[in-house]
Amino acid sequence: MLNIIRERLHQGYRTLNYPFVSPTISPRFAGLPSLTPTSCRSCNHRACLTVCPTGALRVTAEGPELDMGRCLFCRACEQACQEHKITFTHEHRLAAYTRDALIVRGPAPEDMERPGIRQARGQQKRDLSLFGRSLKLREVSAGGCMACEADVNVLGTLIYDLGRFGIEYAASPRHADGILVTGPVTENMRKALLDTWDAVPEPKIVIAVGVCAISGGTFRGSREGCNGVESVLPEGSVDVYVPGCPPNPWTILDGILSVAWKKRIAG
Ligand code: SF4
Ligand code: SF4
Repeated sequence: MLNIIRERLHQGYRTLNYPFVSPTISPRFAGLPSLTPTSCRSCNHRACLTVCPTGALRVTAEGPELDMGRCLFCRACEQACQEHKITFTHEHRLAAYTRDALIVRGPAPEDMERPGIRQARGQQKRDLSLFGRSLKLREVSAGGCMACEADVNVLGTLIYDLGRFGIEYAASPRHADGILVTGPVTENMRKALLDTWDAVPEPKIVIAVGVCAISGGTFRGSREGCNGVESVLPEGSVDVYVPGCPPNPWTILDGILSVAWKKRIAG
């Protein structure tokens, strides 16, 4: 017993005071993309467009666009661009309320790496403040590779301590306020996802975690997949999109906190 107490005192308090303190993330982490909105003289963006495995990059008259909802954050485009027009910052707060807000069209803001609370990108589709004090989520692993699922699970450990925000995973969709979906939604999981969605009482929310859940990711176009949550659930049902492949656990936590963050963190 004394050894346990001694070890507890030795370890101290390990939970990070997030979001008021910036988490320490690997220097190799690829966060918010930053694009230079001018044309590329050396190859007219051919190098980056060619290497992108998911078609996340597009070139318009205004310059390049990067869709975080399709991006694997593999950095192949960054390495391919000789003019350094595409770079990845260390900013982990990537969640968005709308699909369009996941599209990056210019340079990243300069002050973004300051710690603190913020809303997700874009406008909320509806008022989510009802979920501000207590949020129970049913996790649906809809054909994911288990990397997104592992990063969702790790939020229950003492470093992240999801429960201190009043957020928990529910054992039954009947007891949940919404669903958190990972994976591209395989044909075999289509019915399970719809049944789970139907079982959650109204009003309910949907959080799509990972590029697979947002757009199908690398499985987009597969006849065994459904190209993400939005191709199965009713239109407009996704409230928060959390990009990444897999998203960093801090990115997922930020995405979940963006549901009624004002009330829970500030209130
Ligand atoms: S980092 Fe994203 S945009 Fe760049 S090549 Fe990889 S998937 Fe495509
Ligand atoms: S988004 Fe990436 S990590 Fe997540 S389930 Fe799909 S392939 Fe796996």
